[in-house]
Amino acid sequence: MSVISTNQSTSLPSWRQADSTPFLQIDNVSKQFGDFTAVNQVSLDVYQNELFCLLGGSGSGKSTLLRMLAGFEQPSTGRILIDGVDMSSIPPWQRPVNMMFQSYALFPHLSVEANVAFGLQRERLGKNEIHRRVREMLDMVQLGHLAKRKPHMLSGGQRQRVALARALVKEPKLLLLDEPLGALDKKLREETQFELIRIQEELGITFVVVTHDQEEAMTLATRIGVMNQGDIIQTAEPQEVYEYPSNRFVAQFIGNVNLFEGLVVEDERDSVTIQCDETQTLLQVNHGISCAPNQSVSIAIRPEKIRLHRTPIDSKVNSASGTITDIAYMGSQSVYKVRLESGKEVRITQPNIIRDTSDRLTWDDFVYLDWDADSSVVLTS
Ligand code: ADP
Ligand code: MG
Repeated sequence: MSVISTNQSTSLPSWRQADSTPFLQIDNVSKQFGDFTAVNQVSLDVYQNELFCLLGGSGSGKSTLLRMLAGFEQPSTGRILIDGVDMSSIPPWQRPVNMMFQSYALFPHLSVEANVAFGLQRERLGKNEIHRRVREMLDMVQLGHLAKRKPHMLSGGQRQRVALARALVKEPKLLLLDEPLGALDKKLREETQFELIRIQEELGITFVVVTHDQEEAMTLATRIGVMNQGDIIQTAEPQEVYEYPSNRFVAQFIGNVNLFEGLVVEDERDSVTIQCDETQTLLQVNHGISCAPNQSVSIAIRPEKIRLHRTPIDSKVNSASGTITDIAYMGSQSVYKVRLESGKEVRITQPNIIRDTSDRLTWDDFVYLDWDADSSVVLTS
C-alpha cells in the first residue's frame, strides 16, 4: 500500500509539489545595460528534468537571462543558484552548465566525430573514454552512421544535432539552448522538436530553451515562462498558458484570441456577468474574479471555441450575430471572420471534418455565434 501512495505522490510534476526543491533558482534577478533594464526582477524556479521554455518576442530579455545562467553576463542585482550553489562567483567554465550554440558554430574542417569530441579532449580524458562517449552521444542523436562526415556534407537538421551532441557529451546538469531550431524550416523544426523531447527525457538533463515561437514552446515545454520587456509575466504549463492566460498580453501573444471589452454587472464567487456593447449581449464567465463593481474588463475567447449557426439561438448570454466578411480555407480547418453590428470583428475556426460541403457557409451569410461559459476567461490586466 505504501508503494502505491508513494507512486501517486511522485507522479505529480515537481513544480506542483509544495515540498520539492528547485534545481535552478533565479532569485529577483535584474540586468541593466546603462540605464536600460533588459531583465527586470525575475524570480523563477526550474526543477530537475524540466524542459523549461522562456518565450517572448525579440528584445524581451530571453537571451540576456540565459547568458546570466551560463555566466557570460553578471546579474546587476539578485542571485542565481544551481543545485543549491550560489553562482555569483563561479565562472562559466566551472558551472555545471553547457550552452548549445547554433549549428554554424561547428568547426568546418573537423568531422562530426571530432566536433563532438572537441570539448572532451580539452578535459584530457583517455582516448577510449572519449571514443565511447562520442559514439554514445552520436547514437543518441541518430548520427552514428555519419560520424566521419564534415559539417558541409550534412543537412541543416543534422548539423543542429551535431551541435546538440557536442553540448551534451560533456554531461552538463543543465543545458541552455538559445533558439536551437531557429535555422530550420518548419517541417524539420517540428520533427526536431520531438527529437529534442526524446533526448531530454532519455538523458534526464534539465533544459532551459529560449524561443520566440509560441508553437515551439507549446510543443516542447513542461512549463513556459512568458517574457515581455524584461519581465516574466506568466509561468505555467503550456495548456494553462493557453487556456488561462493571466493577462491581455499573454492571451494575444499565445495563439489567436478574440478580446471583447465590457463592464462587470455581477460578480459572484464562481461566475462573472459582463455587459458587452460589442456583442450587444451579456457575457458570462465561469470563474470568479475580485474586482470593483462596474470595472471594465476584457473577455478572451479562442477562435476554436465559438460555434457558428445559420439560425438564431435561444441563449441570450455568450452569443452574438453578424455577417461573414472573410473565409480562409487552411486545409485542416477554416477561418471565418464575422463582423458584428457594432463593427467588432470576430475570428472563428472550424475543423474541416467532411470534404463535401454543399451547404458550406459563404461570404455575406448572416450567422449566429455562441460559446460555453467555461470557454472564456476574464482578464483584468
Ligand atoms: P531577446 O533574446 O529576448 O531577443 P535580449 O536578451 O537579447 O532579447 O535583449 C534584451 C534587450 O537588451 C534588447 O533591447 C537588447 O538590445 C538589450 N541588450 C542585450 N545585450 C546588451 C548589451 N550587451 N548592451 C546593451 N544592451 C543590450
Ligand atoms: Mg535572443
